[in-house]
Amino acid sequence: MTKTPMTLDIDTRRTEHSRIAEIDWNHLPFGRIYSDHMMMMDFRGGAWQKPAIVPFGPVSLHPGNATLHYGQSIFEGMKAIRGHDGRITLFRPELNARRFNESCQRLCMPGIPEDTFIELVKAHARFERDWVPANDNAALYLRPFIFATDEALGVRPSETYKFMILSCPAGAYYAEPLSVKIEERYTRAAEGGVGRAKTAGNYAASLLPTKLANDEGFQQLIWTDGKEHKYIEESGTMNVVFVIDGTLITPSEDSDTILRSVVKRSVVDLAKHWGIPVQERRISVEEVIAAIREGRLDDAFGAGTAATIAPIARIGFRGEIFDLPPVAGRVVSKRIKTYLDGIKHGDVPDELNWGVEI
Ligand SMILES: *Cc1c(COP(=O)(O)O)cnc(C)c1O
Repeated sequence: MTKTPMTLDIDTRRTEHSRIAEIDWNHLPFGRIYSDHMMMMDFRGGAWQKPAIVPFGPVSLHPGNATLHYGQSIFEGMKAIRGHDGRITLFRPELNARRFNESCQRLCMPGIPEDTFIELVKAHARFERDWVPANDNAALYLRPFIFATDEALGVRPSETYKFMILSCPAGAYYAEPLSVKIEERYTRAAEGGVGRAKTAGNYAASLLPTKLANDEGFQQLIWTDGKEHKYIEESGTMNVVFVIDGTLITPSEDSDTILRSVVKRSVVDLAKHWGIPVQERRISVEEVIAAIREGRLDDAFGAGTAATIAPIARIGFRGEIFDLPPVAGRVVSKRIKTYLDGIKHGDVPDELNWGVEI
């Protein structure tokens, strides 16, 4: 990865009322506790204005704000992690920077040059470094996002935008192995749609199907393709990975319908690096169910920044519950999780150079 040395000119204003002393570091529910400051940068007149780090607080919006009505907005999710050596690193931020810009392009929004995006995230994380938890399994979750700010009700791309970064000290996203339902009625994304963009509306559309699955006792869904509901797509906020007969299999990304996960990409890269057979291809629900029935499914897990590697313990399909092999005996997901945790905490050599110090 080439690094352009760059010092961004950022205005900073420190809070006079830090909340850091009130934080219970052993109880960090995901996305509810915000650090003291946030990054803001406006786009107007065809150009990004000077960024600023300011005390965290509400932003005031015109009621005709285009995002509120038509959802022109994009977000990213990253983590700053404190190693046992005290270094604070981001994980492959160049992939987030690229995806952010791809998402922006799909939604007709101005992107941010990848180097600049990374420098803004680093600068924000450095400013909030005291908020990066020291306990294992916790991190400072970073939420860069951009939204339209035109004050007009006509449906068209906005001419003004706001980019912001929020940060939340956060513990584990899922406390236990997951119980997921294979969804055959509702659709997350269609060919030609916006499934590949990390855009707000995708999550609004997922709320009802997810709630219905929650009511049936599942924590999450596994989406299937919108056309036939035959092929596995991904989970709500994670990509999914299976190990069948020793081969790591995950749905291929050459469609518009799957969000390209940084963690899933890293799982695939690692498996290849270690010589584990990998297949990125279409995978049918039928194939997964058959593998479970025949005892050939060794492992199944979700991959995403918030949840990291989340083992799947049970799969619900057409009213039947399939129990997967005991999580304690899973070889592949455990090895991957141990390695990823190890490099993030500086305990094992970062052979593939994924950590980027802030
Ligand atoms: C963010 C997200 C993921 C996970 O992506 P990571 O880059 O690994 O965090 C997967 N699916 C969806 C729908 C997402 O929004």
